[in-house]
Amino acid sequence: MISALMPTYGRADIAFDRGEGPYLFSTEGARYLDFTAGIGVNSLGHAHPRLVSALGAQAKKLWHTSNMFHIPDQQRLAERLVAHSFADTVFFCNSGAEAMECGFKTVRSHFDAAGDPGRYRIICADQAFHGRTLATIAAGGQEKMLKGFEPAVDGFDHVGFGNLNETRAAIGDQTAALLIEPVQGEAGIRTAQEDYLQGLREIADEYGLLLFFDEVQCGMGRTGKLFAHEWTGVTPDVMAVAKGIGGGFPVGACLATGDAASGMVPGSHGSTYGGNPLAMAVANTVMDVMLEDGFLAHVRDMGAKLLAGLEKLVAAHPSVLAGVRGMGLMIGLVCADDPKPLIGKLRGNGLLTVLAGGNVVRLLPPLITQGAQIDEALAILDESCAQLGKDS
Ligand SMILES: *Cc1c(COP(=O)(O)O)cnc(C)c1O
Repeated sequence: MISALMPTYGRADIAFDRGEGPYLFSTEGARYLDFTAGIGVNSLGHAHPRLVSALGAQAKKLWHTSNMFHIPDQQRLAERLVAHSFADTVFFCNSGAEAMECGFKTVRSHFDAAGDPGRYRIICADQAFHGRTLATIAAGGQEKMLKGFEPAVDGFDHVGFGNLNETRAAIGDQTAALLIEPVQGEAGIRTAQEDYLQGLREIADEYGLLLFFDEVQCGMGRTGKLFAHEWTGVTPDVMAVAKGIGGGFPVGACLATGDAASGMVPGSHGSTYGGNPLAMAVANTVMDVMLEDGFLAHVRDMGAKLLAGLEKLVAAHPSVLAGVRGMGLMIGLVCADDPKPLIGKLRGNGLLTVLAGGNVVRLLPPLITQGAQIDEALAILDESCAQLGKDS
């Protein structure tokens, strides 16, 4: 018999009762250092005093009104995102997949508005992850996610991540956009190199295509810049963000240039909850914190410290660890073998991490993590690798 809760997840046998900064406390009372951060969501850790206070204050005033009325805090957050990015305009929704969907509609409507509605196909990268709706699993293109849900939504082609020749060769009369994650998350922290992004920008400009970045995981400070593509000189035309922007409150956003969004007119798109007052009170406070002097520098410092420590561990435990890669606090620890035993061992020793593709253990600490907690994590990793080395 099926369980009351639809059994779509493989869950670890643990539940939490409360969180504080980078720590989680289980219902059994055990303390864990949370280097999952809700898969990059709890950017400011758990129960951040300013987020708690913003949510509490807003909860007493107004939760929800519908987008048939003006929502001043939504306007304000849009203006701040525009001021701090390539974009001219922002649509708010509640998740990463919805932010992607808005991006797909932005792309299609752009060409429709330009009198070229036959251009609707998007070239995506292999091993991409863009969400679990019908259109986003088609964009991801991974067989294991499409299986059982076919036919796949039409309009997505796939080429090798990092492969400009394949990208060029895949362009046809119907191609509208190029889509990648500047740092692939689920695939195992694969970073797009600057010359790759530069090449995509050039190809997009040459063929009149839109460049669409999925920064749902790598955006909002995760790599030590507000957006990951800022590490390069390349800007997209459309970008999806979510995860870290709400710090744990469900918020997604689709950012675009005015030209890219030429088809997004009144009545073209909507979301009942998107950008409601409760969500915007929290997301504006996340922005307040992230835009403060030193916040992103802290992420870069902590990222460098973590990476340096992990490089030493890779050298010390070659039978368990094969390498480390990533940017800022978006780090992938490549395992010599199946990473699941290591993830289990780490959890047993009080450190929570996330599985990713390519035998990778993902480390996504809250961006407020301090040096002492990086040291604590490295000590647990060292101990766990030593235990695992002995076990095998
Ligand atoms: C998590 C994620 C998504 C999907 O976000 P949801 O909020 O789960 O819909 C899309 N793209 C990337 C890169 C992600 O990491």
